[in-house]
Amino acid sequence: MSIAENIARVRAELADAAAEAGRRPEEIFLVGASKMNGAEACREAIAAGIDALGENRVQEMVKKLAENAYDGAPLHFIGHLQRNKVKQVVGKVSLIQSVGSLELLDEIEKTAARLELTQNILLEVNIGGEAAKSGFAPEAVFTAAEAALSRQHVRVLGLMTIPPAAADRETNMRYFQEVHTLYVDIDENLFHNELKYLSMGMSGDYADAVRAGATMVRVGSAIFGAREYSL
Ligand SMILES: *Cc1c(COP(=O)(O)O)cnc(C)c1O
Repeated sequence: MSIAENIARVRAELADAAAEAGRRPEEIFLVGASKMNGAEACREAIAAGIDALGENRVQEMVKKLAENAYDGAPLHFIGHLQRNKVKQVVGKVSLIQSVGSLELLDEIEKTAARLELTQNILLEVNIGGEAAKSGFAPEAVFTAAEAALSRQHVRVLGLMTIPPAAADRETNMRYFQEVHTLYVDIDENLFHNELKYLSMGMSGDYADAVRAGATMVRVGSAIFGAREYSL
């Protein structure tokens, strides 16, 4: 299957799930998670109409930016971001999806202020409470959103989450629903219903995520094929 065929298949499944959730297919934003795939694969995905590409390693992103891999589509940063690498990301991507601590929020604010720009971000929720994963605890996200609102150079567009990989389907669905509930609460009470993106769902569960209210999914292997970790 080519990248274009994979995107068409994913889009069709997303459209069905959107219909079940009472939404239009155009309301679901498809991010291609292009890590470990070269510039040529990125270009293929862009030619096939992917809404954005998402990278999760700064070094790889910088290299592929230099190769013009993302020309023609928005670029998102979706991985764990260390504070000392913020300078390489702010202003280079249209959305940082993975802001999971106040320290990172402040570093982004400081860098964006220096560059005199506003950086769009999502707040990441650590819904499974995993020690090894970054993200705000569910009970801390509302306060984090308030903190972000008081910063002049970041704009919160929504929430992002990655549930524990080992969860069974039912538990996974419950995690999605919990983050959707947080999203609706924050949207109504802090953002006048102007949040745009609830980013959840990957290759194994994007349809369930959309059924639970996701408006953005991040899909890697179902589009680009299995990643070759020995590279
Ligand atoms: C790799 C990655 C994805 C996509 O994973 P697949 O299972 O290959 O679809 C989504 N989100 C993040 C943050 C990732 O790093």
